[in-house]
Parts: sequence; structure tokens; C-alpha cells
Amino acid sequence: MDQQLPNQQQPAQQVQNPNPQQQQAQQQQAQQQQPTNDQPKEGKGDGKTGEVKKLISIEKLLNSIITAALDQRASDIHIEPEPKRVRVRLRIDGILRESWSIQKEYEQSLIFKIKIAGKLRTDEHFAPQDGRISFKLDEGKKVDTRVSILPTTHGEKVVFRLLTQDGRSFELKDLGLVGQDFEMVQRAYQKPYGTILTVGPTGSGKTTTLYAILKLLNSPEVNITTVEDPVEYNIVGVNHIQINTKADLTFASGLRSILRQDPDIVMVGEIRDGETARIATNAAMTGHLVLSTLHTNDSVTTIPRLIDMGIEPFLVASTVNLVIAQRLARKLCETCRQPYVVTEQDLTAINRVRPDIGRYLKVGEQLFREKGCANCTDGFQGRIGLYETLQITKDIRDAITDNANADKIFEIARKEGLVLIVEDGINKLRAGVTSISEVNRVTALKV
Ligand SMILES: [Zn+2]
Repeated sequence: MDQQLPNQQQPAQQVQNPNPQQQQAQQQQAQQQQPTNDQPKEGKGDGKTGEVKKLISIEKLLNSIITAALDQRASDIHIEPEPKRVRVRLRIDGILRESWSIQKEYEQSLIFKIKIAGKLRTDEHFAPQDGRISFKLDEGKKVDTRVSILPTTHGEKVVFRLLTQDGRSFELKDLGLVGQDFEMVQRAYQKPYGTILTVGPTGSGKTTTLYAILKLLNSPEVNITTVEDPVEYNIVGVNHIQINTKADLTFASGLRSILRQDPDIVMVGEIRDGETARIATNAAMTGHLVLSTLHTNDSVTTIPRLIDMGIEPFLVASTVNLVIAQRLARKLCETCRQPYVVTEQDLTAINRVRPDIGRYLKVGEQLFREKGCANCTDGFQGRIGLYETLQITKDIRDAITDNANADKIFEIARKEGLVLIVEDGINKLRAGVTSISEVNRVTALKV
């Protein structure tokens, strides 16, 4: 890490913020920091007082970053050392945006402060560390965070995950599941046994969908237990278990133990190995409702993935009830979204890069695109799920048992009315909920 000498830069250069109001606040903090450099410049008091004052202002800086991140509905904060500055980025609705630039000389104090708050080792600079920090902010606000520190070539990079409860007050009906997809999900979770899987890349909202289902199933008459990594938030009445590899509490061992605790409904954070897949399948076979996630691109390829993990085709066929493949698209801001009519040129441009999207669109139809206003981030506000819901019907069950490949299963599912993620995206595009750029971006994501 760079050891910088006290320099002559103006305080205003220390923290640059694109948002003028925040910029002013940051500058005030920067001014507070300026006299408290490592060297006791002021010549008043001893070095100790200077250090304490510096920590206080670094604490203010950290609190203002957390507060701004919360206000902007960010999910993560990245504090990244670069050769000449520290970059701070926020992930908002799945997209990273640069929010501040902090002068390099404050890097070590900031990291030190974070390590103290997270009860991490302050003398360790070369090993990854992680912990939790609960911030008490102004106006009685409080937020829990998961913090991870990783040494990079330019210093220690810090990532905070904000564990906010308010963004989680979702209901299944608000996630974007519509029509037959919504009905299929309702039917599947009302069955007393079998497996419901949500699939897609990291950050596609798989766990959120499962939480929404758990909230509907949650009642005093049933024992619901989860094994997760991490437990992001708690549903009252549900037993959440955090995996802990140091204590040999993995998805597989946790699941095995849950099954000795008289469960009705079990949620496994992720099926990523054969052992977990086998225990989950057994649980579903023996009268439990099992919810889990898997990393596959689409609904149909989940079936061969489970078979590749060592589950017999007839067991996959008899236990899996429903596979929900999904992505999260940013929702257009309703205040500033711009209506436009699709032109010949628009269609040609789309067809050049994504003919699978272009083939659903027509010249002359009205869509909406993003603009940007004071109420939103780049024209977007919040996110909505795009879904592909595969119900394991009798014909599909027979095909799986006969060891049919993914193409054959896909053919049957399409005949039975399977709506693809991109088609759900087109529907939401036509409804003015999202934009072509978003449908393009999220449906291009591969696992
Ligand atoms: Zn707007």
C-alpha cells in the first residue's frame, strides 16, 4: 500500500461526488479531516488527540457513505484502492456506479476504521477477512452489513453487502410472475411434497422468489427450516440456519440434520453438489416440500443437470414439481420513461445483435425507453423478474424417465405452452415496465 506524505491538496479535492448536495456534505467532512493528518500539523495537543480526531472524521465519512448507499437503495458498496485514489462504487438495481473518489492518504485510516468496527485483525494486510458490522446512523437509522476485505495489488479492497429489511417486504404477487406462471407456482407450493427449484445466474433473484413462497407457507402448523449461505434476513416463524464450513455445517450436512428435526418444508440455499442433490431428492421423496436454487441458464437444462449430479432420471421425474428460471430486469421509472414508436431502423439494429428479441417486435408498435430524472437512477427504479416456469407434467415426467435429452423435453414443454424468459421480457417491454436495453442485457446473461 502506498505510504503518502501529507500533501498540499485542497480539501475540496479529497472527496468528489457527482451529487452536489452530497458533495457539499463530503467536502465539509474532508475539511474536518484535513488538519488531522498523520503529522500533528496543528501543533496543538499531542499526536494521540490528532489520531482520535481523525478516526472520528473517518467514522463520519464511513457513515455518510453508508447513509447515501441506503438512500439510493444500493445493495453493495465497493471501496477500491487505486494507485492514486480510492474509488467508491455502489451497486444499485444490479448495476455498479461510481459514486465517490477519496484521496489516497485516507485509505489506511478508512480500512483501519472498518476493521475495528468489524472486529477484524488490524495488523493483517495480506489475508482475506470477513465479518459483520452494524451501523447506527443519524435519525435512528440502523443497518446490518456483511463486510469482506481482500488484498489487491493496490491495497485492501472492501465490499459491504447491505442487509436491509425494508427492500425485502415483497410479496409473491409483486415479483413479476403473471398469468399461467403465477398459477403454476401457486399450485406447486400447495403440494405437500416434491421440489421447487429456482434457477439462474447469481443476482437473478432466485432466493427472493423462494423467500416469497416461504412467507406464504409460513404458519404455526408447519415446521419450516432453511440452510443458507448467507442468511440475509429472517422470517419470523422460520428456522434459518447459516452454513459454517469451519464447524462442518455445509448445505449437505445441514440438510441431513434438518431432516432429523421433523420438518415439513425445507429450503436449501443452493444445490451445487451430488451429495446435497441426493439428500434433497430423498427428502422430497419422503413427504417433504423442498425449495432450492441451482445455477442453470434455463428451466429445461436443470433436468439434465440434476441427472449429471447423480440423481436417477426416474427420481428426478418423480420429485421435481416445478422449475422457475429467472432474471431481474430494471424497471423503467414511471415519472420519466419515454414513449417511442419502433422504426424500421430500430428493428434492423435489434435484429443485428439479438434476432431472438427482434423477431417478436413490429415496426410501428409503441414501446418505452429510459431517460432519467430526479426520482430515479439513469431512468430506472427497482427491478422486476422475468420468468420461465416449467411444470413437470405427465408427458415431461415420462420423457425424463425415458432419459430424454434437454431438446426433447424442451419440445414437449413448448407444446404445452412454456413461456421463455425472453418472451416474458417482451411482454413486460410492451407493458412499458422495462426497456429493450434491459431485456437485451439480462437475457444475454449466461450462468
Ligand atoms: Zn425518472
